[in-house]
Amino acid sequence: MSREYGRMPMDLDLLLRKARLSDGRRVVIGIADGRIALIEEEGAPVPPARESLDLANAVVLPGFTDGHLHLDKTLLGLPWRPHDAAPSVRARIEAEKAFRRGECSTLAERGAEKLLELALRHGTTSLRTHVDIDDVTRLDYLAQVLEIRERWRGRVDIQIVAFPQSGILSCPPVADLLEEALRMGADLVGGLDPLGHDGDLHAPLDVVFGLAERHGRGIDIHLHDGGEAGLSEIMEIAHRTKVTGLGGTVTISHAFALADADARAFDAVAGLLREAGVAILSSIPGGDRCPPLLRLREAGVSVFFGSDNVRDCWNPASVVGMADRTMLATYRFGLRTDADIAGLIDHVTRIPHAVTGLGPGTLAPGAPADLLAFDVETVPQIVVERRLPTLVMKGGVRQV
Ligand SMILES: [Zn+2]
Repeated sequence: MSREYGRMPMDLDLLLRKARLSDGRRVVIGIADGRIALIEEEGAPVPPARESLDLANAVVLPGFTDGHLHLDKTLLGLPWRPHDAAPSVRARIEAEKAFRRGECSTLAERGAEKLLELALRHGTTSLRTHVDIDDVTRLDYLAQVLEIRERWRGRVDIQIVAFPQSGILSCPPVADLLEEALRMGADLVGGLDPLGHDGDLHAPLDVVFGLAERHGRGIDIHLHDGGEAGLSEIMEIAHRTKVTGLGGTVTISHAFALADADARAFDAVAGLLREAGVAILSSIPGGDRCPPLLRLREAGVSVFFGSDNVRDCWNPASVVGMADRTMLATYRFGLRTDADIAGLIDHVTRIPHAVTGLGPGTLAPGAPADLLAFDVETVPQIVVERRLPTLVMKGGVRQV
């Protein structure tokens, strides 16, 4: 979905002076009609603008993309709630449903927009959220998230996945509801552990790929299944992506099984993912379930990062920012050199843009002026010090 950016007219609204790019170049950035119009070396002649802002040598990056959130799950707006689900996917689904049956608050009251405020404060200018579609929520949460998306238009771009959190076969109304969700405005079709949850490798994927093909949409499947089962699901998704020609629009979220593969199996699966154009989304989870980021990169697989659960029935953790997520990757994979650490920024800018179409992905003339300024000497500091941006701009308008 990545696109080439082109030249812009030179009737400038704003000049950002004394900016520094990630490679250390000192530049002036001109903005017109919500897009970057020019990036010139400091001292080069630039056209006048209606306004100018001195960034005092701050490092400027493109706005971050959070590739996986659950705006409909967070309970950030409610009093602290101790985690009470047993440690399995099924137990957490049931605990969440039990909570929801006894809860009449709106998603906004539960904290969906508080989460958006936090994300924006941390430099997230675009995100992909999964929205539960099941026999309890039906299309209610989707309707609320669609309204929230409208309220936030121009501040944070929101892409919506219709997510069958209770499975497809095991929750009969869901297949029809997913189709209706796409008609209502969901952007992608979601999925959940075909084997581990629905007990069938093929039938749930028939529904997911069928909907994606009929409606011309992308796919983003939650895959928690580990071991042989998980690897066979990943291979089947890659195979179907190739056959349907949906390469470049399919993501597997979590893909924990990749952490279980021996070297031979890993090479085979990673090769299939690359060939098919299937991306992997990781929240860089703890424990022994984190897909091997560095080996996936070496194999040419696109990996991008997301926050996943933020203080909800699944997880009490409240880590929202994408700089924090890159810090988790630095820690987890033992990265120490400046080049290795700075390279992680790709997983929250360039790569998610290429996979999802969200965010500017890069700073270039013609790109949306979604940009962040950090008061640091160099990019690795943003990661290891988990810095907040001092400026967050969306479409050329300052948000923070
Ligand atoms: Zn998720």
